[in-house]
Amino acid sequence: KKGLNKTRENLTGKIEKLIIGYADIDEDLLEELEETLIMADVGIKTTETLMEAVRRGIRKKEIRTPEDLRPFLQKQIAEILNRGEDATREAGEGPTVLLVIGVNGAGKTTTIGKLSAYYKHQGKSVMLAAADTFRAAAIDQLEVWGQRTGAQVIRHEEGSDPASVAFDAVRAAKARHIDMLIIDTAGRLQTKSNLMQELEKINRVIGREIPGAPHETLLVLDATTGQNAISQAELFTKAAPISGVVLTKLDGTAKGGVVIGIKNQLAMPVKWIGVGEGVEDLRPFSAEDFAKALFQ
Ligand code: GDP
Repeated sequence: KKGLNKTRENLTGKIEKLIIGYADIDEDLLEELEETLIMADVGIKTTETLMEAVRRGIRKKEIRTPEDLRPFLQKQIAEILNRGEDATREAGEGPTVLLVIGVNGAGKTTTIGKLSAYYKHQGKSVMLAAADTFRAAAIDQLEVWGQRTGAQVIRHEEGSDPASVAFDAVRAAKARHIDMLIIDTAGRLQTKSNLMQELEKINRVIGREIPGAPHETLLVLDATTGQNAISQAELFTKAAPISGVVLTKLDGTAKGGVVIGIKNQLAMPVKWIGVGEGVEDLRPFSAEDFAKALFQ
């Protein structure tokens, strides 16, 4: 529940006001509802989907009073978020490889640290690979997270080939019987073709050493950027097959509605949410809990 307060105020708080403020369902209410959804960064397409559902609900008399909107919307949002398989894929045998991508500043390194702590807490062995060789600071930061969470770190020098870091990491993870290998990558979206080639090469190297790997390619997006997060996700889909999204900084934003848009517009499951800067502030995303927390 932590981390959704602002989104709840922004989205649900306003919906509650509508419900209280109107005696009957009428066009004014529907217009205000539509505006509220758009302002909460649910996204225009997804807002249209929800508004169509509401109008259908009214026609079918599932919605008779403004009060009925609350459970109706909660159910619709939970349904959008529930579509498809969302659980984290893990290797049957040998290391599970997670490739983590995203632009600088989105919270990639922090997320990797949090994931490391999460899996450690489950009793798994964790290795981190510093394949963002572009920034020396990124390599050092990963080392710090490794020490903090008790994970081994594979690193090369700044400027070395990211794919060779990935290769060494995969070899080491296999040899040392590591459960989870989490690979950090560079987040330079401005040079998209380079990034694409870099990710392709990393994928090729990993897949050759461990068939089926990477098991997850997680795109880290900053929720505070609202609809920009969705455009960014669209760009990244061209560079790598993304299996899931980590939405960070939900604690500091009222734009949490973007979760719904990511799922509905991009058909990408949100797998984790970041709700703070601390190592414990990462939650597996639950559609039902999210929808419930919005409307509690
Ligand atoms: P990177 O450049 O993508 O690796 O980004 P970092 O992991 O260095 O994170 C950038 C900033 O965002 C840091 O100050 C983090 O502490 C902060 N940050 C990351 N995730 C979250 C989150 O879920 N909530 C909050 N409030 N801050 C976060």
